[in-house]
Amino acid sequence: MEAEPQSTEQPSDQSSEQPTEGATKPSVGDALLAIEELWPESLAESWDTVGLVVGRPERSAAKILFAVDPTHDVISEALDWGADLVIVHHPLMMKPVNSVAASHFKGNAVHRLIEGGCALATVHTNGDSAVGGVSDVLADAFGLQDVHPLAQSADGLPEEGIGRVGNLSEGTTLGDFAGVVFSILPAVAGGVRVAGDRDAMVRRVAVCGGAGDSLFDQVRESGADVYVTADLRHHPVSEAREAARDGRPYLIDVSHFGSEWLWLTPAATALENVLADQGFTAEIRVSTVNSDPWDFVLTPGTE
Ligand SMILES: [Zn+2]
Repeated sequence: MEAEPQSTEQPSDQSSEQPTEGATKPSVGDALLAIEELWPESLAESWDTVGLVVGRPERSAAKILFAVDPTHDVISEALDWGADLVIVHHPLMMKPVNSVAASHFKGNAVHRLIEGGCALATVHTNGDSAVGGVSDVLADAFGLQDVHPLAQSADGLPEEGIGRVGNLSEGTTLGDFAGVVFSILPAVAGGVRVAGDRDAMVRRVAVCGGAGDSLFDQVRESGADVYVTADLRHHPVSEAREAARDGRPYLIDVSHFGSEWLWLTPAATALENVLADQGFTAEIRVSTVNSDPWDFVLTPGTE
C-alpha cells in the first residue's frame, strides 16, 4: 500500500488543536514514545507485529481508548466517543496482506479508522513480557507473592518475560482457588474450566494471560501446583494430565479475552502517568466491549 504523498512539514490542522486551559495534548507520536517506554518493542516475540498500525504520528491523541481486540464493536465505540487513538492488545493484521479493501472485514476496520480520524496501535507480547504486563496483572489480582517470569525474555531484565509464577499467601483448595479466579475475571459465556481434584491443596500458582499451552515445561519446572491460562486444547491438556498422573500441576482454563482484559485498566493508568510526566494530558478510557467470541454454552444439566 502506498502512502499518500504529503509534505514532511507539520500539517496545518495541528494548529487548530491547540490545548485548552494550559493542558498540552499528546500527539500519536508522543503516545508511541510513552508506549515504548512502558512496553518496549524489543520485548515482543520475534513472530509478533506490534506498534502503529493506522494513523499519522503528528496527529493529536487527546482521546485514547484501550481494548483487547480491534473488533467492529470496539471501533464503533472508539469512533462514537471521538477517540484519536485505539491501543489494542491483539494485532489487527498478524500476517502480511496484499489489500486493505473495505470488502474484507480487516480492510473495513482500516477504512473505518482512517475515515474516522482514529489511529490504531498494538501492544501485544511486549505488553505480556513487561513488568506490570498482562501476566503480572493476573498474578497481582490472584494475590501471588514472590513472582517471577515462567520464561525470561531473551532481551529483557530478569523480571521480564512470558507468564508468571508465585505463591498464594496460604494454601487453599483447587476448587476455592478456581472460585477466586472466576470471581476476578470478567463474566463470559464459557466460564472457567478446571482439570484436577477439587479438594486438592494448592499454593504455588503459574499464570499466563492468553494462550499459554506452549509453557507446560516451564510450568512443571516452576513447581506450580496449578496453572491458569487460556485456550487450552484437548491434546496438550490430555497429555499434560497424563504426564502429571492426575496430580500437579492442575489446570484452569479461562477466557482468552478475560485473561487479558484485566490488564487494560492498569495499562491505561500507566500510560496516563508517563504522559503526565512528560507534561501531556490525555483523556484515556478502557473499552466496555466484551470481545470474547463465545455467546452461550451447554453443560450437563443445563441443556
Ligand atoms: Zn491474547
